[in-house]
Amino acid sequence: MDWVLPPRCALCSTMIHGQAGLCGGCFQSMQFLSDPLCDSCGRPTSVKETGPICAPCLTHPPAYDWMRAAFAYDDASRSLILALKYKDRLDVVPALARWIAGVASSKIEPGDVIMPVPLHWRRHLARRFNQSAALAMALAERTAGQYAPDWITRVRNTPPMKAMTRKQRAANVKGAFSVDGWNREKLQGKRVVLVDDVYTSGATIEELSAELRACGVARIGVVVVARVVGHTHFKQEFELE
Ligand SMILES: [Zn+2]
Ligand SMILES: [Zn+2]
Repeated sequence: MDWVLPPRCALCSTMIHGQAGLCGGCFQSMQFLSDPLCDSCGRPTSVKETGPICAPCLTHPPAYDWMRAAFAYDDASRSLILALKYKDRLDVVPALARWIAGVASSKIEPGDVIMPVPLHWRRHLARRFNQSAALAMALAERTAGQYAPDWITRVRNTPPMKAMTRKQRAANVKGAFSVDGWNREKLQGKRVVLVDDVYTSGATIEELSAELRACGVARIGVVVVARVVGHTHFKQEFELE
C-alpha cells in the first residue's frame, strides 16, 4: 500500500519510511518496559524487590502464568492504541507486532496457540475489525505460533467498564466467554498466548484465563501493547475497554 498512501507516523502524522510505525521523535517518547520485570505480570520491579516475582503477584497470584507488555500505558501509548482502534491505522500492526514479539520472545515457543481476546460479534460489527486479532495474527507469524482467532467466543456483549469498581468489573465479565466441545478438546494440554491491545484492570484477562484453565490449558501467557504500571492515569485507565 506504500505507493498509494506514503506511511505516516501513527502519533504525529510525519511521513516515515517503510513499516517503522512511528517517527524517530515519537519513538523516543514511548516508555518501553525492560528488565528487571516481574516474571509473572511483566510489571517493572524496583530494586527493593529481590525475587523474580513482584510483591502484588506473590500476594494475589494472577490466573495467567506470565504477561509481557511492550510499553507502559501512558499518553503516548494510549494515543498509539487509539489510532489502531478507532482510526483504522492497521498499518502500525507490523511495528506493534515487532515490539510485542521482542518483549515476549523468551516466553513464546514455536507452536504456541496465539489467541486474540475475542470481541462480541455485535461490537465486532460496529468496529469492523478486531484490532487484537490483527495483532495476534502478526505475532503468530513472527513466532511460528498457531493463530487461533475463534477457539474461544464472547457469548455476552458486556457493557463498557469505564465507571465500574474492581468488583463490578469482575462480575461484568463473569461467564462472558465460552469454548465449545470441539475446541475444548483441542486446548487440552496446550500452551496458549492471549493477545490484547491494553491491560488495565485485568478483569477480562482473569476471566479468560479461568475459562482456558478449565479447558485443561497447560500454560497461559498474555501479551499486550501497553499495560498500566502503578496507579497513574486511573481516570483514563478504563476508557479503552
Ligand atoms: Zn511522530
Ligand atoms: Zn508481578
